[in-house]
Amino acid sequence: MAKKEFKAESKRLLDLMVNSIYTNKEIFLRELISNASDAIDKRYFKASQEGQTGLSRSDYPIRVDRDEDARTLTITDCGIGMTDSEMENNLGIIAQSGSFDFKTENAKEDGTDALDIIGQFGVGFYSAFMVAKKIRVVSKAEGSDQAYVWESEGADGYTIEPAERDDVGTTITLYLRDDTDDDQYSDYLKEWKLRDLIKKYSDYIRYPIIMNVTKQEPLSKEEKEAAEADEDGKKPEFKTVHEDETINSMVPIWKRSKSDVTTEEYNAFYKDKFVDWEDPQKIISTNVEGLLSYNALLFIPSRVPYNFYSKDYKRGLQLYSSGVLIMDKCEDLLPDYFGFVRGLVDSQDISLNISREMLQQDRQLKAIASRLEKKIISELKDMMAKDREGYEKFFNNFGLRLKFGIYDNFGANKDKLKDLVMFYSSTEEKPVTFQEYVDRMKEDQKYIYYATGDSIDKIKKMPQNEMLMDKGYEVLFCTEEVDEFALKVLNAYNDKPFKSTAEDDLGIELSDEEKAIREKQSKASEGLLNSIKDALDGKVADVKLSTRLKSHPVCFSAGEGISIEMEKVLAEQSK
Ligand code: ADP
Ligand code: MG
Repeated sequence: MAKKEFKAESKRLLDLMVNSIYTNKEIFLRELISNASDAIDKRYFKASQEGQTGLSRSDYPIRVDRDEDARTLTITDCGIGMTDSEMENNLGIIAQSGSFDFKTENAKEDGTDALDIIGQFGVGFYSAFMVAKKIRVVSKAEGSDQAYVWESEGADGYTIEPAERDDVGTTITLYLRDDTDDDQYSDYLKEWKLRDLIKKYSDYIRYPIIMNVTKQEPLSKEEKEAAEADEDGKKPEFKTVHEDETINSMVPIWKRSKSDVTTEEYNAFYKDKFVDWEDPQKIISTNVEGLLSYNALLFIPSRVPYNFYSKDYKRGLQLYSSGVLIMDKCEDLLPDYFGFVRGLVDSQDISLNISREMLQQDRQLKAIASRLEKKIISELKDMMAKDREGYEKFFNNFGLRLKFGIYDNFGANKDKLKDLVMFYSSTEEKPVTFQEYVDRMKEDQKYIYYATGDSIDKIKKMPQNEMLMDKGYEVLFCTEEVDEFALKVLNAYNDKPFKSTAEDDLGIELSDEEKAIREKQSKASEGLLNSIKDALDGKVADVKLSTRLKSHPVCFSAGEGISIEMEKVLAEQSK
């Protein structure tokens, strides 16, 4: 049987696996079990769609078997299985190859970034090559009479041949490596280790994960009588038995009561399910019963997904109907501006057989989405009030998205979001909210002032802002392109209009004394101003004596409406 070559990018990934310096090799088991669970999901879902009743998850076990002598570990499922061409297509390439390409191109030669790659994309099936020198997959697909075996010893290729297998499903055998001095791989053949790993990573899997375990059982009276005594004349109390045991607790984590689940468990679940290597910043778990019933488990990541601010990023929550996954990324459950939220919704009110098109119109789904949005807003406000530092971290990650949210859709959502955004303040030297600004406003202050520029430093140095800052007015700094657009859409906060410091009239009352001086200076400078205006000949609208400068001789100012910064952005966009 001729060996087939892996696709180029798979080969690269395999090389990384085989020569892995990644210490967290143990995740391979989680990956294989999760694949088994996915495969059973597909079969279970199909069966229930075809109207089969009386289905029970406990009838769909996943087996983990070990053979210490042969140094093999076997994972068996009764999932949907694979045909030969499915083996070819699914085990020969990587699901997220696009993202992987992106990462490996930037990866360092020495492979230290391998950890990042593995952490970020969860390399799935291939991770087994971190611990196995050879992998054998025997599978029979549902609706197919012929089983096949896929075999590979790593990067040099694989074979696919017909094989024998009675039942539909898949058996994956790992021939564990033995090529190290301390034989770290032999741990994966130990019962205690496998039990630990299953508990740690796969406890929420909704099908029983069964292992044949060794137990000490008390002897019955008859057995004891029949037993032989040892040298000291003592008869044994226990016997060793081998029996199948379900290792995982099976109940999905979101169905368990909040008080029963530890933060570690939630974190582990998040990292496994949503492929992150950092704990989430915030966990939101809600259980709603009533006319509309659902469980939702939401997470706010601690860091920005690498493609978050690009078009590639897909938002959405997993959607389950009574514990069965019906959609992986349901966009309709989250507004754009909360696209960073990861998580899932499980509701018995959503029909299992609903189509994507129907789902968009589904009233229940809309109602859930709107409740979730309110929940997220209130959790964020709560974080802002109770954990300011945490909120600033969050805002640093995803605040830009919220500002876009204010501006998008002609400001349709601005009122929901205006209390969640922050801007850097000239007086506080940190990000502040509009409410905080307004609470501190001077008695006679009519406007919320903001200044735009490329960076905080640059804004501080801009002559336009000198007088205002000198007089102790708080100025909000807009350093992002979207900032000023968002403020324009908001127009005002609590009846206090926003005013750009670049505007000609800052709306500050001058004292009589100041007015008199100004008038006098204007008169005296008329000739000078006119000749400057002539010299600039049509390049500026007007040349005036300014009240806002202190140490700088001149500055530009804009009329009402659009600022110079905004003009730049618009000019850029219309190119
Ligand atoms: P992912 O699970 O993210 O799709 P994997 O590398 O873990 O990526 O698996 C690749 C593909 O191989 C799966 O999508 C699935 O089609 C197939 N596969 C892996 N394991 C099994 C299995 N036990 N039963 C059926 N198909 C499987
Ligand atoms: Mg997988």
